[in-house]
Amino acid sequence: MNFDVPSEWVDFGDALIRFVDREVAGLEQEHRALLGSERTLYGEDGRYSPAVLALRRQVRMRSAELGFYTALADESLGGGGLGAQAAVYIQERLNAHCGPGRHLVQTVVLPSPFTNGLSPVLRHLDPAVLATCHAALASGDKTMCFGLSEPDAGSDVFGMRTRAVRDGDHWVINGSKQWITNAPYADYAMIFAVTDEEKARAHRGGITGFFLRTDTRGFSVPGVIPVMGHLGAEIGIVALDNVRVPDAQRLGPVDRGLSVALDGVNAGRLSMAASCLGLARWALDQALAYAQVRKTFGQPIAEHQAVQFMLAECAMDIYASKSMIRHCAWLIDESRPATKEVSIVKASATEMVGRVMDRAIQIHGGMGLTNELRLEAGYRWARTMRIPDGTSEIQRRTIARRLLEGDATF
Ligand SMILES: Cc1cc2nc3c(=O)[nH]c(=O)nc-3n(C[C@H](O)[C@H](O)[C@H](O)COP(=O)(O)OP(=O)(O)OC[C@H]3O[C@@H](n4cnc5c(N)ncnc54)[C@H](O)[C@@H]3O)c2cc1C
Repeated sequence: MNFDVPSEWVDFGDALIRFVDREVAGLEQEHRALLGSERTLYGEDGRYSPAVLALRRQVRMRSAELGFYTALADESLGGGGLGAQAAVYIQERLNAHCGPGRHLVQTVVLPSPFTNGLSPVLRHLDPAVLATCHAALASGDKTMCFGLSEPDAGSDVFGMRTRAVRDGDHWVINGSKQWITNAPYADYAMIFAVTDEEKARAHRGGITGFFLRTDTRGFSVPGVIPVMGHLGAEIGIVALDNVRVPDAQRLGPVDRGLSVALDGVNAGRLSMAASCLGLARWALDQALAYAQVRKTFGQPIAEHQAVQFMLAECAMDIYASKSMIRHCAWLIDESRPATKEVSIVKASATEMVGRVMDRAIQIHGGMGLTNELRLEAGYRWARTMRIPDGTSEIQRRTIARRLLEGDATF
């Protein structure tokens, strides 16, 4: 194993950060009145205002034009195919540099595997269908959402009530989805539905994935779901009322939708872990800088052992997380099994960033609670990450199951 970072990745990271600092930060500055307050960021209905959506699209398209947006996507989809190790390195750098709460950066400059760009799930789409939307997705013009969860089916995906029934060359989908990231703004949706009751009841498949345009008759997003104190949201509820989807728009084989979905979920877990690592580094940088200038009892607080311990604990957390993320990405690049490792990395990085954000706030005292420093935004963001893409408990369940099945080597 060689953890030296190849110069191409470093150059890519440098160029990406130059783009963010020059162009994206320039736009943020120009539109600071719009982006600076949640009262203008979102409309009355909790959705991003049209001006914000237009800016996000502009950044996506510029990122694509410069080659960043698709660089991490699979080569078979026309992406740069840089691989998992490059992806985690770049995600970490971007987040460590930018910090939290930047609506024109997160999931916009680099796509999330679920919602933007050339998602790995698209490998399961009929090439002729993919050809109709490939350019729009690769250029950042259009975006997607990934609808697996429902009111009664989160951790327990087989509790799904959405049904797809075959009708000639089509499927007719009825049901609803909940917590779906980007659903209020997406042009395309990947929707998972039960196609075989018996298999689904026995937890032996029976769920199929479909790809559709969100302007298909019967598809709607009746509401958004603001979380963690926000006035608006990226996540929404999806209603599916007799939505007719051609069989050609199926994602993978009938009844095998969960393995299709896992392609997105696994890429999402690793990318989320790398973002957590980057944000934890950002928070530690803030804490280190502040601890050396803030004085109490006649000396910088960095001289107090209690503060030093908090800094050291952040470093211990970050180093452990970084080591395991990079090792897990290496396993994936080597096409080695990594089911338990992906779960270990997802659970531990999302928990780690919460601890680091918490200590960074503590080191800042009252300043840490102010909106201005964005540590509180990071803290709220970190808290949410223990739930999507499989909760911490579900990751532990996967890890334990793998151990008990004999996968106990590291
Ligand atoms: C911000 C955000 C974005 C999301 N984006 C998407 C998206 O784009 N697409 C999508 O399909 N879904 C999305 N989700 C849904 C997310 O995947 C689910 O919320 C998650 O899987 C948990 O499901 P749940 O909320 O129904 O909780 P539940 O499954 O009801 O779990 C409740 C509690 O019980 C625990 N629990 C459940 N089962 C077990 C068990 N067997 N053993 C131990 N503990 C257990 C859980 O860990 C949790 O603590 C998103 C969620 C959030 C919050």
